[in-house]
Amino acid sequence: MPAKNVNDVIALSKRRGFIFAGSEIYGGMPGTYDYGPYGVELMKNIRNAWWNTMVYMRDDIEGLDASLITNRLLWKYSGHEGGFSDQLVECKKCGARMRLDKMKDPKKCDACGSSDLTEPRAYQLMMGLSVGATADGAINAYLRPETATTTYTNFKNVLDSTPHKLPFGIVQIGKAFRNEISPRGFVFRMREFEQAEMQYFVNPKMDEKYFEEWKKNRMAWWIEVLGIPANKLRFTPHEKLAHYAKAAVDIEYEFPDGFDEVEGVHNRQDFDLGSHTKAQNEFKINAKPIENKDSTTKLSYSDPQSGENFIPYVIETAMGVNRCMFAVMLQAYTDEDLGEGKSRTVLKLKPALAPVKAAVIPLARNVPELVELAEKIVNELRGLGIGRIEMENSGNIGKNYRRHDEIGTPVCITVDHQSLEDKMVTLRHRDDMSQERVKISDIPSKLLEIIRK
Ligand code: ATP
Repeated sequence: MPAKNVNDVIALSKRRGFIFAGSEIYGGMPGTYDYGPYGVELMKNIRNAWWNTMVYMRDDIEGLDASLITNRLLWKYSGHEGGFSDQLVECKKCGARMRLDKMKDPKKCDACGSSDLTEPRAYQLMMGLSVGATADGAINAYLRPETATTTYTNFKNVLDSTPHKLPFGIVQIGKAFRNEISPRGFVFRMREFEQAEMQYFVNPKMDEKYFEEWKKNRMAWWIEVLGIPANKLRFTPHEKLAHYAKAAVDIEYEFPDGFDEVEGVHNRQDFDLGSHTKAQNEFKINAKPIENKDSTTKLSYSDPQSGENFIPYVIETAMGVNRCMFAVMLQAYTDEDLGEGKSRTVLKLKPALAPVKAAVIPLARNVPELVELAEKIVNELRGLGIGRIEMENSGNIGKNYRRHDEIGTPVCITVDHQSLEDKMVTLRHRDDMSQERVKISDIPSKLLEIIRK
């Protein structure tokens, strides 16, 4: 049973060191969060799982890590600086501020139902920056609001430095910044967050095939790699398509208060490369970008067979890593009634995602032989390079189990007096609390088997 209430996960996040409110000791900073010791591990494991599927398991996708600070011309031609700024509506009765495109009914306040609303006003989604030692405070650059644009501007660099032909893709994982009007829902909507995005460049004749393929691939990842049950996920096509989009669908997860977006899959046609390319009039650009007078580079592709030179279409997959981790935690969170008035909280994460892969517990902390043997096992497991292995030397095994259940550690390994004699230890499994006696020499292979499940 996943969490019934987001507050369960918010409380666990603070209690066990996953996520803290940003700038907490100074009263906070809306829309920002800090990731603690176990939060960084879970985020890293999700990132790695995504990179593994998107890059390492394929031949046609490359990675990129572009700068967060960018020349403002990128955002002029991407459309973010001008036409894309969101329309904002304020309720005169309750003060709620809403994005016009997100309102259930544009004539009624989402919060209180009043129809006494201000006229929609344009509002700048991007965070402006003043860059340079002599800066006078005037905005002369932006923090990126998405990773995609810097992927488009590097299209030619990657194409020219790798042996790829179409179709091929470029991925980025990194921070994005948005002046969200109303940050909300814990890490669901933040002002600083992380995206994992892929841009797949295709021949315009093949766009529909690859759009369908990526929908299927991404949904399969949520189910198979993250372990989210299929009935907690769904596709929702966009009702209103952006002017440049040919098709767009959200992958939605069922949060405790209903289904909401966790990832988007978009057919963006030739809008992006077409917007940023030099010599736009040499190409037949379908998506009608604004005229570009500043680009120094043609972002086109020459087909080696037909000799045709054209602007590729883009199929994009865009996931929020923080939102993904939130969904994973909500899904894994379980309160279990153990009978006789006892209960436990356990995070039933896929073992590969768990922040700590195993905890080794000497049964008595003041018996040097037990501690030494436990340290030997810890060192050997650390040598596997599978992530964090913890030595638990507090001497309170009940407390240790409770903590590791709550942070999702798949196994606890207990070293007791008998271990010194028979070279065996007790392996305690997180999900069913079953215990088995295992030879110390078998522990590494056993642990590898568990975390690959
Ligand atoms: P939304 O409609 O929720 O504002 P979007 O459609 O603008 O999101 P994209 O620009 O497609 O989102 O970004 C891709 C993903 O990034 C989203 O599916 C979501 O998981 C994540 N995301 C977007 N905005 C935020 C935010 N402010 N905080 C956290 N994650 C976000």
